[in-house]
Order: sequence, then C-alpha cells, then structure tokens
Amino acid sequence: MATQEEQMTADEKRKEKQRNYYYKNKERIKEHAKKYYNNNTTKVKAQQKIYRDGNDELKAKKKTYYQTNKKEIQAQRSVKQKEKCVCECGCVVVKIQLKRHQQTKKHHKLIEHERKLNETIERILGQQE
Ligand SMILES: [Zn+2]
Repeated sequence: MATQEEQMTADEKRKEKQRNYYYKNKERIKEHAKKYYNNNTTKVKAQQKIYRDGNDELKAKKKTYYQTNKKEIQAQRSVKQKEKCVCECGCVVVKIQLKRHQQTKKHHKLIEHERKLNETIERILGQQE
C-alpha cells in the first residue's frame, strides 16, 4: 500500500510540476503551438482527424466523463451562456454571442456613429486652439 501511495504522490508531484511549468510559460507555449499549427496546418488537421475518428477509447472516456459530471457540466454551460459583456460599441451582449453581434448592422452603425462623433469633437477642439 505504501508504495502505491508513494507512486500517487510522485505522480501528483510530476503533474503539479507540469502545471506550474505551463502557467509560467503559458504565452511562449501558446505562441509556439500557433506557429507550428500555421506551418503544418494540413498535417495537424489530418492527425487530429485520425486521433478523433479512430479512438474509441477516447470516445468512451468522454462519454463516461460526461455522464459522471453531467450536472456540473450543464451548470457551467448555463452560467457561461448567461455571461454578459460590453461591446466596443457600448451594447451589453451575451458573451458567446459577441462575434455574431459584431457582424450586425446595429453594431456597425454604432461604431460608425462613434467615429463620426470623435471626428466632430476633434474638429471642434481643433478650432478652439
Ligand atoms: Zn457592438
């Protein structure tokens, strides 16, 4: 039993170490991954497809994980779906709909309006000097 416990702690220590390394070098790792992806897009996509399609173990794992954590996952989802943010145009938008909102006429109109307003203000300030 002791050896198993020791094994566990060693494993956890290793994971903790990896986690710390990731958080310390988060930006660098992300940038590296992005660069690699951009240089090898087709290769990466093919590998991802093979991994996803041919991996029944992964599918089963995902399914089990979902079933055991169903309530928690659904709660998280509903929280995320209600999360709001303020767009650059001043509208309050549900965060997951932000991209969609930014493509609407309303958003473009408000942005254009703000640009014109700024131009007018600058012009008036320029005249005063
Ligand atoms: Zn907007």
